[in-house]
Amino acid sequence: MRIGVIGAGASGIGVAKALRKDGLDFDVLEATREIGGNWQPNGSASKMYKSAHLISSKKNTQFSDFPMPDHFPHYPHNSLMFDYLNNVVDAADVRRSIRFETSVLSARPERAGWRLSLSDNSSAFYDALVVCAGLLRKPIVPAYPGRFDGETLHAAQYRSSATLDGKRVLIVGGGNSGCDIAVDAAHVAAKTFHSTRRGYHYMPKFIAGKPTQEWLMDIAPQFSNSTEYWAHVSEVFRVAGFDGRDYGLPEPDHSIEAAHPILNSQILYHIGHGSITPVADVARLDGRHVEFVNGRREQIDAIVWATGYDTDAPFLSSDLFDAKADLSSAFLKVLSRRHDNLIYVGYLNTPSGIGNLGNIIGRFTASYLIARTENNAGWNRLKQLVAQNVKVDIGQDRFMNTQRHSYEVDLWKFIKTMNFLSSELRRQ
Ligand SMILES: Cc1cc2nc3c(=O)[nH]c(=O)nc-3n(C[C@H](O)[C@H](O)[C@H](O)COP(=O)(O)OP(=O)(O)OC[C@H]3O[C@@H](n4cnc5c(N)ncnc54)[C@H](O)[C@@H]3O)c2cc1C
Repeated sequence: MRIGVIGAGASGIGVAKALRKDGLDFDVLEATREIGGNWQPNGSASKMYKSAHLISSKKNTQFSDFPMPDHFPHYPHNSLMFDYLNNVVDAADVRRSIRFETSVLSARPERAGWRLSLSDNSSAFYDALVVCAGLLRKPIVPAYPGRFDGETLHAAQYRSSATLDGKRVLIVGGGNSGCDIAVDAAHVAAKTFHSTRRGYHYMPKFIAGKPTQEWLMDIAPQFSNSTEYWAHVSEVFRVAGFDGRDYGLPEPDHSIEAAHPILNSQILYHIGHGSITPVADVARLDGRHVEFVNGRREQIDAIVWATGYDTDAPFLSSDLFDAKADLSSAFLKVLSRRHDNLIYVGYLNTPSGIGNLGNIIGRFTASYLIARTENNAGWNRLKQLVAQNVKVDIGQDRFMNTQRHSYEVDLWKFIKTMNFLSSELRRQ
């Protein structure tokens, strides 16, 4: 069995590591000249800015079998994450299987496998395909009435606060990137406005002397149910000064556990000091002015759209196959509904870091592909579950019904399900 893996970002690395461990035959096809995808310092796959540090803590982001070095801080800088991923690639001996600067232009079913046409004018055949081309693919810029005549850029293109120096800047979007960029702007811009559509639950990066996600995990066993747990967590954050309402921000329209966490120790600090001015949703663009839904109007020099990404896999789509639809309905967000030799990795989010997921989905992918080749009982049972459209609870109903959360799952439920299935697939 020959396996084609598309993409050498963190997800592709997780898969390649697992395939190598099981001695499987694979190539990783990577469009750019480096591994790391979003974590590349520059280049077309990079989405990093100078100030970007991990949002998830080191412990929650590393591959557990390749811990980050002791001298890394709890929240390493993006350049350290890039170095780390390179070290993982070498330690796991996967670099020799990566074909760099090889973009997959199209992938079509042929016989019992996939025929790929590649950017170097060659083609390749694989028995199974693992797509790790990234969830954050197409920057979304919302459409508003009117026209804006100042500068605009999407968070995907934002590299450093130098672009915002001395300007009246509007950052649109309340996610982690939007908050990071607003904090960047607060240090250099003439005026920083931060537009959000709703109120959010903000979390500090440290609480009780620990990275917050680690504290959240450590205290969980003290509570008998999630309602008590989240009530306690919210109260601790409020006392620590992390309730947006205390800074005049709107009350969130969702519970704290229904959204991907926004971890930022500085956004409320800057709002409290007047260096970031929160504003409502944009209503209209008008030359060098922006009007907001509450009637406020501001003169703006530059807008940064931190408004998220759409996902797709254009190289897979054809007249007969809508890959975007297949991706969004994938079983456990991993297995294609249409092709049992097509696996999607990295098309989900959890309130944690990438390494855990990379290892768990990597192991599942290797288990699945071995079991499929053996046509064993575990694989046939799983195939039936996919065919019968059985809904497995991986916590997707816990999250808000927004585009941003359509790929969100509950970390623990997902881990438990994947580990169980990996063991079943390997049972003789
Ligand atoms: C600013 C920012 C901060 C973040 N912070 C965190 C954090 O703290 N913790 C965390 O866990 N995650 C964080 N993330 C999420 C981040 O996306 C993931 O950590 C991880 O990079 C996703 O890896 P991936 O391999 O799935 O996708 P990508 O990193 O997007 O990699 C996809 C790869 O596929 C390649 N590719 C795409 N199409 C093709 C093709 N047709 N042919 C060949 N190759 C192709 C691309 O070149 C790329 O190398 C952050 C993201 C951003 C933007």
